[in-house]
Amino acid sequence: MLKLPIYMDCHASTPVDPRVLEAMLPYFTERFGNAASRTHRFGWEAEEAAEGARKKVASLLGASSREIVFTSGATESDNLAIKGIAEAYRDRGRHIITVCTEHAAVLDPCRRLEAQGWRVTFLSVHPDGLVDLDRLRSAMGHDTVLVSVMAANNEVGVLQPLAQIGTITRERGALFHTDAAQAIGRIPFDVNALNIDLASLSAHKLYGPKGVGALYVRRKNPKVSLAAIIDGGGHERGLRSGTPNVPGIVGLGCAAEICGAEMADESRRLQALRDRLLHGLTRNLAGIDVNGSMTDRLPNNLNVSFAGVEGESLLMGIGDVALSSGSACASATAKPSHVLKAIGREDDLAHASIRFGLGRFNTEEEVDYVVEKVTAVVRRLRDMSPV
Ligand SMILES: *Cc1c(COP(=O)(O)O)cnc(C)c1O
Repeated sequence: MLKLPIYMDCHASTPVDPRVLEAMLPYFTERFGNAASRTHRFGWEAEEAAEGARKKVASLLGASSREIVFTSGATESDNLAIKGIAEAYRDRGRHIITVCTEHAAVLDPCRRLEAQGWRVTFLSVHPDGLVDLDRLRSAMGHDTVLVSVMAANNEVGVLQPLAQIGTITRERGALFHTDAAQAIGRIPFDVNALNIDLASLSAHKLYGPKGVGALYVRRKNPKVSLAAIIDGGGHERGLRSGTPNVPGIVGLGCAAEICGAEMADESRRLQALRDRLLHGLTRNLAGIDVNGSMTDRLPNNLNVSFAGVEGESLLMGIGDVALSSGSACASATAKPSHVLKAIGREDDLAHASIRFGLGRFNTEEEVDYVVEKVTAVVRRLRDMSPV
């Protein structure tokens, strides 16, 4: 039996996996201690749980557990990486390179640094959403301290060429940060193979709880220095003060472990569902444009423009399926998404776009329902439209 409403917006957030919730529960009640308490069993248990989770997160990234800093989520991790590097390396140079299709959690800290006198290059992208590596090479100067390029885009699912970017960045002696909130747990990711120096992730994008995430910070070859942005009791090796969110951290660890074990099968299954969705839509409807590369793409993402309809009216008509037009943060406003504009979509096609984000709990039956529902609503809106 199909249960409505259907959730297909997994780039915005994912449900907590019941196995993750189960692992978290004892840390709210009987094991509630402060992980920084050194004088009793309650503190030791909490600390042991947090360190176990740190190992699991590290192992998903090919890192060592001493390189993982727990934060409140990817937004904080991005801020810590960018502002923390800027402060620690200010005497080496004052240039940062990023990409115009990044999440606001990267763009806004870069803009703030720009206002404080840093030079920031916002690289443009090709119509398929990928950065141009020659443009990256020519943007790099002796004063470039940081290159920040996301692993997978949260709107169009495009995967950036991290391995090549890592090589270029390493050759030129700059540091490489990646916002990997959409990639980690969904596709293989190894900080050493990719020459990544800092990586941001978020638990609620990988079937863990909201309000917890991590920043990977490389400790050797090279050892990355970082200034804290939250000062206080010196938790997380002084990089993130504040009593650790132990239940959340345990949830993140468990979620990371499950992703590591199930990622290969899960991404095959989600890609098949995604392709079924796309083929269903193109079989039923003309005037469909896929936004972003179809080859360098997350297995669970589809972003489509439906010529002649307005995304908001489409979403309203669909009603019982949770989808998003443009990015979740931008959909409260009428502005077309900065990502779709960057890949060259005109305003009308950008407004006519829908993002489908498939996840662990979606079924074939749900995909078939969504195909029929979207088809019916697009046809109806096109019939009503004068153009
Ligand atoms: C969701 C997301 C964020 C923000 O993560 P939070 O944990 O909600 O702060 C940042 N970057 C990308 C690419 C995301 O998808």
